Amino acid sequence: MTLSPVPPTGADALRISEAHFRAMSDASPLGLFVSDAEGYCVYTNAAYGRISGLSFEQSLGENWSTAIHPEDRQRVLADWRAAAHGGAPFQTEFRFLRDDGQIVWTRVHGAALLEGGRVNGHIQTVEDISERKATDHALRIAEEALFVEKERLRVTLDSIGDAVLTTDLRGRITFMNPVAEAMTGWSLAEALGLPLTTVFRLVDVATHQHVADPGQHAIAENRIVGLATDCALIRRDGSESAIEDSAAPIHNRDGEVTGAVIVFHDVNESRALTQKMAHQAHHDFLTGLPNRALLTERLVQAIRLAKRHRKQVGLLFLDLDHFKHINDSLGHAVGDQLLQSVARRLTTCVRASDTICRQGGDEFVILLAEIAQPQDAAQVAESLLAALAPPHRLNEHELRATTSIGISVYPCDGLDADALLQNADTAMYHAKAEGRDNYQFFKAEMNARAVHRQLVESSLRRALEKGEFLLHYQPKINLESSAMTGAEALIRWQDPALGLVQPAQFITVAEECGLILDIGRWVLREACTQVRAWLDAGLAAVPVAVNVSATEFRHRDFLAGVARVLQETGLDPRYLELELTESLLMHDSESSASVLDALRTLGIRLAIDDFGTGYSSLSYLSRFPIDTLKIDRSFVHDLAADAGDAAIVGAVIDMGKNLNQRVVAEGVEMPEQLAFLHARQCDEGQGFLFGPPVPALEFARQLAPAPPA
Ligand code: C2E
Ligand code: MG
Ligand code: MG
Repeated sequence: MTLSPVPPTGADALRISEAHFRAMSDASPLGLFVSDAEGYCVYTNAAYGRISGLSFEQSLGENWSTAIHPEDRQRVLADWRAAAHGGAPFQTEFRFLRDDGQIVWTRVHGAALLEGGRVNGHIQTVEDISERKATDHALRIAEEALFVEKERLRVTLDSIGDAVLTTDLRGRITFMNPVAEAMTGWSLAEALGLPLTTVFRLVDVATHQHVADPGQHAIAENRIVGLATDCALIRRDGSESAIEDSAAPIHNRDGEVTGAVIVFHDVNESRALTQKMAHQAHHDFLTGLPNRALLTERLVQAIRLAKRHRKQVGLLFLDLDHFKHINDSLGHAVGDQLLQSVARRLTTCVRASDTICRQGGDEFVILLAEIAQPQDAAQVAESLLAALAPPHRLNEHELRATTSIGISVYPCDGLDADALLQNADTAMYHAKAEGRDNYQFFKAEMNARAVHRQLVESSLRRALEKGEFLLHYQPKINLESSAMTGAEALIRWQDPALGLVQPAQFITVAEECGLILDIGRWVLREACTQVRAWLDAGLAAVPVAVNVSATEFRHRDFLAGVARVLQETGLDPRYLELELTESLLMHDSESSASVLDALRTLGIRLAIDDFGTGYSSLSYLSRFPIDTLKIDRSFVHDLAADAGDAAIVGAVIDMGKNLNQRVVAEGVEMPEQLAFLHARQCDEGQGFLFGPPVPALEFARQLAPAPPA
């Protein structure tokens, strides 16, 4: 290629070739920097001017290293020297610091210009790589963020209590967290790529039928699906655990389903709790026999069947003779053992299809579901009396427990459950009147029971008028510090003839006839007055808990009554706690909630009494403003012997903690029970181990003087 028709010569040729060179170099997008042997500039092109912000004239005579950012300078010069020493081409990246303060990332390639084997200059190409550097930086930040995100996810999945596993579209395992590994018995390494159904085998608890893969279900429907209720997971070793789970589809960036995530957790404990509570709702804790509720259910059913088959139903009402005497003289523990021994003997006298129930106290009811004639019931009654005749050996005691039995028969003595029970009860009173240890059939003229009720009711009226009620106080103890944290006020009736009567003997009657309203008001006022008096006497009084019956709580004046008593006695509301039962709250939860809120607003504390014996629905608990859960003493009683009870008590304690409620264990009698409760970090305890209920005067002695203000 020629640039002109006639080849130029001499100075012309030099000028032209220089102009060509300059045009070419200015057309290059790379900066060019030519220097002498010491690095001082002799030439730069246009691109270099754009990068450096300097014109050729400004650059001329400047050393190439002047504009290297101070932080890069040492590194770059060291590299340069090394390259120059070996005569190798030189390559580096550094920040070019412009006069206007702007920083340009550059990549520089340098080579020596040789003449006759001597270095007489350098040529460098300079490339602006700012944009690539910025992209690199952004990428690094994104990578870092991604890493942090992944790490957070990993820590979360490793530490949550739920098991998590994921599958691809075909249901092959792609991930399991440690809990999923533990629960299935498969490690992630072993399980990767296996079908979900191999690792996560689900069956129906009742039928043991295979349950469909929830992940595939979620994928097919492209939505979150819950697990069928009552599922169990079969672990790798064949053992089973009840679980609850849900599955959800996993989507990619385009919203397409790519797999499923399954989250599940063990519900063995809560399922056992529900079952236990259901059992507890139908059985007597002392003897394990069906309770009144279950008996009524079965009686209603037996009447229905008898009607259809034209058969008869027998109902036997038993009340032990002089049991109260035994209980009072030898103590509750012996009384309880006797009741258990009696229950065992009764069980031997009836068929499996019959029902023996403990009504409460020393009363038992036996349902003979199908008899041909009343005489069959008489035969059973005779065998019961015979079975109870021999003495019971209880530790060092030899006790006799005879019983009086009343019998009613469907259909002649009543057509429904209530009438039959009432009449069997009445017949039992007749048996007592006949000298005990015998049985009596109901006769229409027997209305002794009604008379008895009437008697109790009028005695209670008199007791109110004459001031025969009194309160005993039982301490509640902080299990950590052993300090007294409160007391429960428990009513007693000082009857001139009967002596000190316990609430179990009269609260039910008082509730049935409505007297509980007056009695309850008296209790509340008395308790508040008493605490106020202790405070006034300079004692470090503790909050006192008052039991509230359902009838009282539902009365429309209840709230106003409580507020009035507090105002009139001048007691600071934080010294008052009210104990309510679960069933009371469940009955009308809407209005209960509003009364509870109002009480709470007044500053009164609220406790659930006998927790665990009522409804198994726990969800309501979080809806009510409850401060304290009192675990029923039946659970505490069997702590050592019954692993199920231990689990329940543990679960209730944990639940209380989660709901921010104090948990008080009732009926703590033995150091073993205390040790268990303490180990499980139960907050407080109440029971004979710490102190029985005692009269106010005696209780005051347990109160410390108030610290100086
Ligand atoms: P509660 O509210 O569950 O009271 C606790 C009961 O357990 C009390 O029985 C107490 O004496 C008893 N107790 C305390 N420590 C132990 C122990 O270590 N072992 C055993 N086995 N029992 C223990 P009490 O005083 O006979 O009262 C029975 C129930 O009568 C109370 O159960 C409560 O529901 C009701 N009650 C008592 N006072 C009143 C009251 O003023 N008003 C109402 N409405 N009900 C009351
Ligand atoms: Mg109570
Ligand atoms: Mg209780």
